[in-house]
Amino acid sequence: MTFPSDSILVLLDVTPSDGLAKSSAGLLGAASAVGTPVALIVGDAALAADAGALGAASVLVASGDRVDAVAAAAALVQPDAILVSHSIEGREAAARYAARSRSALSVDAVAVARDEEGVVAQHSVYGGAYNVQSATTFGAPVITVRQGAVDARAAAVTDPAVETLEVAASGRQAATFGALQEAVVSSTRPELRGAAKVVSGGRGLGSEEKFALVDELADALGAAVGASRAAVDAGYVKQTAQVGQTGVSVSPQLYVALGISGAIQHKAGMQTAKTIVAINKDADAPIFEIADYGVVGDLFTVVPQLIAALQAKKA
Ligand code: FAD
Repeated sequence: MTFPSDSILVLLDVTPSDGLAKSSAGLLGAASAVGTPVALIVGDAALAADAGALGAASVLVASGDRVDAVAAAAALVQPDAILVSHSIEGREAAARYAARSRSALSVDAVAVARDEEGVVAQHSVYGGAYNVQSATTFGAPVITVRQGAVDARAAAVTDPAVETLEVAASGRQAATFGALQEAVVSSTRPELRGAAKVVSGGRGLGSEEKFALVDELADALGAAVGASRAAVDAGYVKQTAQVGQTGVSVSPQLYVALGISGAIQHKAGMQTAKTIVAINKDADAPIFEIADYGVVGDLFTVVPQLIAALQAKKA
């Protein structure tokens, strides 16, 4: 198989249930905007067709250690950049590959672009207050891309070229899973990371019982549930729901903040949302500085009306 000179190698995450991770569409979309996407799947060859449907022009299928596979794929493809999801697995593989190959590593990009010198990563930093770019002066950059940040989608490729990649085991130290136990999630809500819509609650909810209002609005919208750290610390909701600097970073189409003041550490995790709606009784709350739509009012009055209006629309 030969690869075009503008190839972008895209390492796709595979879920424990052997599907392509949701981040794959955005990664391939980003790659197609700056070159020819070549997908690397460390897993089942049957997933190659799915990668094609998401825009991979060609697909390399490998087994073994992911970093060894990236090294073999990069040597074969000679890409202009390597895109990896900013997921836990993606970050781990990207960092280890970059260290091993002495490549430059750009983390948590919200977009990629190309200038006359190569592929450039764009980042949202300091709590989303600034947009900055990073570029390398040598070699192909390894770029981790924030889940949900890229809207662009690549045109489907019905019959992508598929090749099994020979991966020589380097024998280098790697993280090994002792055991993997899939958590049984009873919720029908989407997962917070990568969700298209997120409804988050803050200290303004007042108690764990009252936090149920956040769940209700999320269900009416088909959204994931998030929270501020104050709500987590107060025990209203689990830590896994925390959005922000020390929690999850999200880039949904819609982010609804209920009773959240908008501290910089919270904004750091949600400011790249496409549309932000804030409901807060304090007209001076900093969240209104970044909100596209704001309601100044008591959330316990406003939210039930919003839910009723959404349900009336559905009926
Ligand atoms: P508050 O700031 O107390 O705001 C509550 C808001 O609710 C107020 O604006 C109030 O007007 C409103 N309100 C109250 N009652 C009602 C009502 N009935 N109707 C409508 N509005 C109402 N925070 C995060 O969120 N995520 C992080 O990852 C994070 N990481 C941090 C890391 C570090 C190192 C530090 C120092 C802090 C971090 N924080 C983080 C904490 C952050 O600084 C804030 O303390 C926190 O975000 C505040 O949460 P909050 O907005 O829910 O609470």
